Amino acid sequence: MAVILPKQLGTPEGELLFRASDKISDLKEAVKIVNTLKETLDYYSGVGLAAPQIGISKKVFIVHLQPTKEDPDLPDIRWKAYINPEILEISSKSNVYAEGCLSVFYATVYGAVARPDGLKIKYWDMNGKEHIDEIDHPFHARVILHENDHLNGKVFLQRMNPEDFSQLHWEEDLDIRKK
Ligand SMILES: [Zn+2]
Repeated sequence: MAVILPKQLGTPEGELLFRASDKISDLKEAVKIVNTLKETLDYYSGVGLAAPQIGISKKVFIVHLQPTKEDPDLPDIRWKAYINPEILEISSKSNVYAEGCLSVFYATVYGAVARPDGLKIKYWDMNGKEHIDEIDHPFHARVILHENDHLNGKVFLQRMNPEDFSQLHWEEDLDIRKK
């Protein structure tokens, strides 16, 4: 498997970004997709990546998080796969933060999105075992919700308050094609 430049919204290749993905029944297929997602995410140094972003309309995403100086409470997740995820609960409290996406203008554009602070998620691991996790770190929850949106055919721009579109923030230096 190889590193894949994430498909972009608004291109024929990115058509799947607006479509709900299918459940996975074949674990071998899931493992193959996860490995490609992992290689691609490592290469582009993102915090999460979902199968539709590499042109596969299947319910699986991965997350990569590590504590930082600014946020030492972030969990240390080199990478973790969520297969057939289902959000069971979201917290009533929410927060607003700037989000970007490897599939939105090659990650050059960032915009404010309100997301719940925490959630409960059900998913399969790489062995097909079902888990239910409670996530109470707001950024961790944000990454999961962003990736889970991809499986439902949604990108972060659709979660923004249209009044905030004028605040969209562009950084050409972040263009992942320059990697
Ligand atoms: Zn994204």
